[in-house]
Amino acid sequence: LFITFEGGDGSGKSTQSAILVDWLQGQGREVVVSREPGGTDVGLELRQLVLHWRGEIAPRAEALIYAADRAHNVATKVRPALERGAIVVQDRYLDSSVAYQGAGRVLGADEVRDLSLWATEGLLPDLTVLLDLHEGADRLAGRTQYDRLEAAGDDFHARVRDAYLELAEAEPERFLVLDARDTIENIAASIRSRVERLLG
Ligand code: C5P
Repeated sequence: LFITFEGGDGSGKSTQSAILVDWLQGQGREVVVSREPGGTDVGLELRQLVLHWRGEIAPRAEALIYAADRAHNVATKVRPALERGAIVVQDRYLDSSVAYQGAGRVLGADEVRDLSLWATEGLLPDLTVLLDLHEGADRLAGRTQYDRLEAAGDDFHARVRDAYLELAEAEPERFLVLDARDTIENIAASIRSRVERLLG
């Protein structure tokens, strides 16, 4: 089972994925946790590059760096785990690229998706939890350290949010869309009940 979490910066993805992982492990299941960018050693180098590079990165180059990170993560970590029957819970996956590099950076959504499908030999999640956040900018307002993209304007974040919602609408079977402003407990309960159903 491959479960991914998506959402804007500050939507609570890491909190919710940690709660889900604890619950799954409490049932004695093997869980492999990963994230993008940076789920592997190679990925950490790419994460450092793409998030903290001092200058501009051409949009296509940026999309390729994310794709390279994803390709390595899937080939060396995610697929082997899925093949031995583990559950993979991952913070961000191809939908992030479609939303950020596609809509956010105005490369075409279809092209970015195709690039990602090539990079991963077509691996799609069984479930994608989208934590939909209306006021991403507000949630970040208290923070003092930003990476390159978190510092981008509201406009950018609004486009990313719209792109996410469009993706969810196109694939309702794969997506579970939850309001990120709901309580941590309510969100966790909704995720758990969907995962329980998938586990049968
Ligand atoms: O979720 P996390 O905070 O690790 O994401 C790091 C940054 O990478 C975020 O600012 C997000 O906007 C950006 N990102 C991106 N494209 C991706 C994945 C992440 O722009 N495909």
